[in-house]
Amino acid sequence: MAESKITKRSEDYSRWYTDVIAAAELADYAPVKGCMIIRPNGYAIWEKMQQALDGMFKETGHQNAYFPLFIPESFLQKEAEHVEGFAPEVAVVTHAGGSKLEEPLVIRPTSETIIWNTYRNWIQSYRDLPLLLNQWCNVVRWEMRTRLFLRTTEFLWQEGHTAHATYEDAEEEALRILGIYRRFSEDYIALPVIEGLKTEAEKFAGAHHTYSIEAMMGDGKALQAGTSHHLGQNFAKAFDVTFQTETGNREHVYATSWGLTTRMIGALIMAHGDDSGIVIPPRLATTQVVIVPIFRKPEERDRVMQAVDHFTSPFKTAGIGFKIDAREQYSPGWKFNDWEKRGVPLRIEVGPKDLEKNQVVLARRDNGQKSPASQEGLAQTVLNTLETIQKSLFERAREFREKHSYRIDDYSKFNEILDGEGGFLWSHWCGSGECEERVKDETKATIRNIPMNAEREEGKCIKCGARSERRVIFARAY
Ligand SMILES: [Zn+2]
Repeated sequence: MAESKITKRSEDYSRWYTDVIAAAELADYAPVKGCMIIRPNGYAIWEKMQQALDGMFKETGHQNAYFPLFIPESFLQKEAEHVEGFAPEVAVVTHAGGSKLEEPLVIRPTSETIIWNTYRNWIQSYRDLPLLLNQWCNVVRWEMRTRLFLRTTEFLWQEGHTAHATYEDAEEEALRILGIYRRFSEDYIALPVIEGLKTEAEKFAGAHHTYSIEAMMGDGKALQAGTSHHLGQNFAKAFDVTFQTETGNREHVYATSWGLTTRMIGALIMAHGDDSGIVIPPRLATTQVVIVPIFRKPEERDRVMQAVDHFTSPFKTAGIGFKIDAREQYSPGWKFNDWEKRGVPLRIEVGPKDLEKNQVVLARRDNGQKSPASQEGLAQTVLNTLETIQKSLFERAREFREKHSYRIDDYSKFNEILDGEGGFLWSHWCGSGECEERVKDETKATIRNIPMNAEREEGKCIKCGARSERRVIFARAY
């Protein structure tokens, strides 16, 4: 087993990030530039994320389906903004089966076009609505600058595509999903997010408007964690999808689409990781607890292992994911370090001295705290501790975000903060695309979103001084 050294965050954040991924064996580079091999430890996190989200989608009436990877190129041309937005990054298949194809096939960068082409046959009447589908799949977007999990040429995601009779129904759906994304981020990834509306310049290509959740990473940069689009009637018009209303008229269908991707694993790493490696929130950890028995002599080994078997026997029924690391070729210290870099939330140490006191030692991954715990009722103690860890990871991330959030009314302060510790800059904006663009050119900061819950407040645009009614969030972003 190769020793992997992790660069300190303060030294080089971006190297720290790739070191953490290597140390925890989450992913590997692929032969094709920009692609990624997701290793079992990384995929296990994705599976946990899938389970949680999938449950929330199904609870709200959505069903899973699957649409093909290949899309006729002509489909993409049908929605003008959509093709303009995606054309530069699509991969196209021109040859197959040994000959040139009559019509080139696009490898899906997203599936609105093929899905709305299908919905034309499925939707005839208001009785067919709403149609609430989701699919779990891969998509390909030819990216020039890539980073493991955060931006890869091929990535995994879920994409929801719903059809509705009215604008209001579609709006309600877009917001319902935004709420699901927020709860998922906060309750599972322990990542506080800000819900808001994307600006015209930053919205999805082909959307009426886009909502996002935005999170702060450990270096003060923003990460768009999920998006929910109200597509209006744009795709229904492009693919001629109409329905008969209750009053007998024909109308175009309203649509939403929404997605959350494997970049959330990158978000998890950057939100909670430390100089020892990744820290996996308990609710997303397959191995939530690792038990490291400590012994020197064979008779100690037998006694310790017997106790381990005894106190872990209720773990399974309690739903605790655990591993017993009884490898004899490694020292306890080496094992502690090994599990720390893999981000296992809780470690249980137990040696001959602990047996005398009928106790174990619990070591928390999030803050390094060690404390004794009785072997009696240990399953419950472990469950409680995992909940405490889950909550304190969230609290710590929230405090970090608050500490790096600033109300800025002076443009000269902008760069000072961005070039320093970074963070979210809550500033007034007049609403003009020109001001947004100039700020982006001059500072590399974009408007992350217009927060939903931001209070109305009179002010002056940070760039041009024109009247503004609310603050928006500017930040540099991944
Ligand atoms: Zn302005």
